[in-house]
Amino acid sequence: MSQKQLQFDLYSFVAEAALEAGKPFPLKCNCGGVVTIMPPFQDEYVVCARCECKIKMLVIDGDPGYIIGADPDGIPKLLQVQGSSKPHPNMLSASERDAILAQARTQFATRDK
Ligand SMILES: [Zn+2]
Repeated sequence: MSQKQLQFDLYSFVAEAALEAGKPFPLKCNCGGVVTIMPPFQDEYVVCARCECKIKMLVIDGDPGYIIGADPDGIPKLLQVQGSSKPHPNMLSASERDAILAQARTQFATRDK
């Protein structure tokens, strides 16, 4: 990313499908506040009314419920993609989550070679 990252307080993943649907959808802030995204969506970020965080929206192709990210220490984890019609990753069973993360670890390991 070439943009100045200090400009934003928070990054949030948003499903492209939510923006294309042209319907308002709630974007949750880390503070628990909710920003309603109204179409047509044109700004690259929104501001939380509760904590005044600038939340940069990172649009993810399609309509995934989550993407696989990693902790700072490199441990894969599931990150929610907001606005998606798919369930929140926390709605998956522990065994489903483990299976996805095990697969991710394999992919990360393969990529390093
Ligand atoms: Zn907030």
